[in-house]
Amino acid sequence: MAHFTVIGLGRFGVSASLELIHFGHTVTGVDRDSKLVDKYVEDLTQAVICDSTDEGALRELGLANSEAVLVAIGEDMQSSLLTTLALKNLGVKEIWVKASTKAHHTIVSKLGVQRIIHPEEEMGIRVAQALNYPMVNNYIPIGHGVYVVEIKVKPRLHDSPIFKVLGEANSRIKTILVKRDKEVFSELKESFVLKANDIILLCATQSELKYLAPRMM
Ligand code: ATP
Repeated sequence: MAHFTVIGLGRFGVSASLELIHFGHTVTGVDRDSKLVDKYVEDLTQAVICDSTDEGALRELGLANSEAVLVAIGEDMQSSLLTTLALKNLGVKEIWVKASTKAHHTIVSKLGVQRIIHPEEEMGIRVAQALNYPMVNNYIPIGHGVYVVEIKVKPRLHDSPIFKVLGEANSRIKTILVKRDKEVFSELKESFVLKANDIILLCATQSELKYLAPRMM
């Protein structure tokens, strides 16, 4: 369990906060709008009224015990930038910032922020991926066009050896593991035989996924 601070209790900040709490973490929510702070005071571990552009006020929050601070201010770019700068000045190591425009992204990246989030774009890409590869349950982009994906084996592939399913991409796609009910198989041989509803976790590039998608449908 870790502690996080989320600055900005708009829809994005609140969703992130509630999900962190759902995962068992503790969250301090910060907003300058007292109505929003009152609204979420029961749901969050702590909710504080504070103008986050005020470095002194931020210092009082004692951010040192936060695993990361998420700046969830999108529209008001000036507030977001001044908040990020204040967090940097206070020596906060792990800062994540929601960016709304390209200019916002550029300036935030110059400030040396660890992770810049574009929720609309990221969600759009996720939806497109899900539509494009409907058998993909879940995926994580790990950079340079490489993905870790979770795929459920269709009944028509029951009793197929994995190398046959992967076809020409067999040598390039890395199969991490196969989960069958409660059993997990790793270090798989090419001859490993898949069963319907197995969950395969594999690592592949986008072009390998494009090749694999019709083979797994
Ligand atoms: P949403 O997540 O709802 O899409 P948004 O992208 O429109 O939000 P904003 O409305 O700009 O983002 O900001 C989100 C929250 O951040 C708001 O509740 C706002 O009150 C809060 N906020 C903005 N500036 C500051 C500040 N300087 N200090 C503290 N909170 C702030």
